[in-house]
Amino acid sequence: MFDTYLIKYGEIGIKGKNRHVFEDALAKQIRLALEKISGEFTVRHERGRVYVHCAGSWDESETVTALQHVFGIVGICPVHTYETADMDALKRDMLDYVEQEYAGTKATYKVKVRRVDKEFPGTSMEIAADLGEAVLNRFPDLTVDVHNPDILFDVEIRDTVYIYSKIIPGLGGMPVGTNGSAMLCLSGGIDSPVAGWMIAKRGVSLDAVYFHAPPYTSERAKEKVVDLARAVSKYAGPIRLHIVNFTDIQLAIYDTCPHEELTIIMRRYMMRIAEHFAEKRGNLGIVTGESIGQVASQTMQSLLTTNAAVSMPVYRPLIGFDKNEIVEIAEKIGTYETSILPYEDCCTIFVAKHPVTKPILSIIERSEAKLKGKIEELVDEAVRTTEIVRI
Ligand code: ATP
Ligand code: MG
Repeated sequence: MFDTYLIKYGEIGIKGKNRHVFEDALAKQIRLALEKISGEFTVRHERGRVYVHCAGSWDESETVTALQHVFGIVGICPVHTYETADMDALKRDMLDYVEQEYAGTKATYKVKVRRVDKEFPGTSMEIAADLGEAVLNRFPDLTVDVHNPDILFDVEIRDTVYIYSKIIPGLGGMPVGTNGSAMLCLSGGIDSPVAGWMIAKRGVSLDAVYFHAPPYTSERAKEKVVDLARAVSKYAGPIRLHIVNFTDIQLAIYDTCPHEELTIIMRRYMMRIAEHFAEKRGNLGIVTGESIGQVASQTMQSLLTTNAAVSMPVYRPLIGFDKNEIVEIAEKIGTYETSILPYEDCCTIFVAKHPVTKPILSIIERSEAKLKGKIEELVDEAVRTTEIVRI
């Protein structure tokens, strides 16, 4: 009966005692993903295998889609399970499997047997040969090719017999929760949701921070960011989104500092506040969607100047990506449609006509010094009034 998925996962980084941490985290993320869909699922791992048993009113494509949102899964194999007692029964099961999955198919095949239950008579090779022959006799359109078969029948003899031959690709990466956490600077644009997704793919769980500037930016712009956080959390799990009211800080910068330096100084204050919340949350880094040279605030000089505002590592997974490459990922992960909705962004509202493209840190610091005496209180106020949305 087809009621189980065998989950294949990558081997990298899961040697020794890490393996348990990896498998536990993977099982946890699978359970979280399946909680959201209908059906009764049991996730079990034993001896280097993770299985998902499905019961109740579950739907195949919905289940596969949910599993395709879990980082760490390399392949999803639909498995037929049989309570097989002996060789005759096993042959019947094998023929039943082929009948259900490949009746009428013209292809070459090979049978591979893994005999984990050592009580079962015969060697793996003998059993494979017997099953191969049974298939050959019954299905004239299937022929054997042991070197380069179209279909590889995997037969695993454990307490239960598992037969599978199809591998649906998973996302790869590592299960969220195996590599600490990071604070994602999430704007309403195309880049930052992709950046968060890429970091989460490496097993990092996420918190997020969004800077808005009411009434210059609307409630709807904020909703859009909440929607983007939700889209990312389909892969990354729960996210605590910090929504910071940045208006007074921006106005103070606007009133006090040279206008061509506005964006850079604003970005430095964003980073400082992001770092504050990151430390509070125990995050190990900050994540942004920056990419070299994309805009004036992302030249190498600008990145240096922005970076100098904080001491925590800043991860920029898109640093070497072209816009079209980022868009491609955004479309694939389902954030693009939301990202392109036309709502104002606090970075563009206060933007200068000719922003500096090669800021010099000492000059920026001198401009910032003029904010001393009033900016501290504004930053405190912004931190104090930050709204937290649990996603
Ligand atoms: P994105 O598409 O991610 O908005 P962008 O191309 O618009 O990026 P910038 O506006 O220069 O580029 O922002 C660079 C990065 O700074 C963003 O990817 C994001 O990580 C962070 N950032 C920018 N604006 C905000 C904001 N309002 N709130 C939180 N983070 C922000
Ligand atoms: Mg932006």
